[in-house]
Amino acid sequence: MCEEQTVSLVDVLEEDEELEEEASAVLGGSDSDSCSYPQGYVKRQALYACNTCTPQGGEAAGVCLACSYKCHEGHDLYELYTKRNFRCDCGNRKFSGLQCKLYHEKDAVNSQNKYNHNFFGVYCTCRRPYPDPDDQVEDEMIQCVVCEDWLHGRHLGRVVPDCVELQEMICESCMNKNPFLWTYAAHLAGPEVLVEERRDESCANVPKKAEVDDVIEPSCKRSREEVEPSCRLKVLQASQQKRDQSGAVFWPSAWRSKLCSCITCQAQLSAAGLSFLLDELDTVLAYENKGKSSEQVHQGHDPLMSALDNLNRVQQLEIIHGYNDMKTELKDFLQTFAAEGKVVTSEDIRHFFEQQSRKRRRVDAGPFYCS
Ligand SMILES: [Zn+2]
Ligand SMILES: [Zn+2]
Ligand SMILES: [Zn+2]
Ligand SMILES: [Zn+2]
Ligand SMILES: [Zn+2]
Ligand SMILES: [Zn+2]
Repeated sequence: MCEEQTVSLVDVLEEDEELEEEASAVLGGSDSDSCSYPQGYVKRQALYACNTCTPQGGEAAGVCLACSYKCHEGHDLYELYTKRNFRCDCGNRKFSGLQCKLYHEKDAVNSQNKYNHNFFGVYCTCRRPYPDPDDQVEDEMIQCVVCEDWLHGRHLGRVVPDCVELQEMICESCMNKNPFLWTYAAHLAGPEVLVEERRDESCANVPKKAEVDDVIEPSCKRSREEVEPSCRLKVLQASQQKRDQSGAVFWPSAWRSKLCSCITCQAQLSAAGLSFLLDELDTVLAYENKGKSSEQVHQGHDPLMSALDNLNRVQQLEIIHGYNDMKTELKDFLQTFAAEGKVVTSEDIRHFFEQQSRKRRRVDAGPFYCS
């Protein structure tokens, strides 16, 4: 970290506008003014469910960022973080009495949308709310890249690795629904560490890139009969490398690029509704980078911005979503410094944001490397 910078109260308050711009970066370019419906099924977007309009017992529905602000202001909203291939439901048949203020010509339902219990405010295999008033255990919530449910770290059937390189998680239930993923797991995700064998797990078990490439592209010479493109998955299946098939699997970065994309495998993935696994742009990381790159122009060296940058993505999202409340609280917070004649440091601001966060989820991987 660079040395602590100091900033005056006035400086910080003048950053409001920039903070707003940073907010749109965090939301991956999600538009906070226009309903995303006309874009169709959006590859990935920030989504919300409204407990006021579509409570449990009825049909699940999700609304886009702009609708959460403009059509459901003051409602009881669940933050769903991001989900893929979703079209905004705001004001459609599932909403009795509420009209979307932003876009009127919507179909009655969006038949390709997928819903799970998150849309009713419950998460994980234990089906609990988050935050959970009856749960005193400090734990993180991790999103399965396949079913997109959020699971407690302690309900994954394995130790959550510390290694930030192991970014994407697939829950046990999704693994078992798609058994070929276990074959990839045996080669790409390293030996499993089950809960019983709890030990200090860093990146020791992540296969080195060279090892993985060796397995995926065996160096043996091809015979004439094998000139046609071969299936990497078949090669892996033949190689006998095994792993215990239980618990969630954490995958190293760029694992998706190692999956076989031969015609047969593409068909298999498509039939399983998993074609997105062949698409690096589907990852949350790609989504965030998209938001960041569109915002690069605005990046300066002011401490408020870098403080926001250093938060994990859930903290960022929460801050952005409660932006107006936060702005008031931030001003109050800064007033205390002014009253005491103290300067505000970027550390103070970082601390403020951290206290704002009520959820603790998996931290942003960012550009870190494992030792
Ligand atoms: Zn909308
Ligand atoms: Zn509502
Ligand atoms: Zn709306
Ligand atoms: Zn749980
Ligand atoms: Zn899952
Ligand atoms: Zn294949």
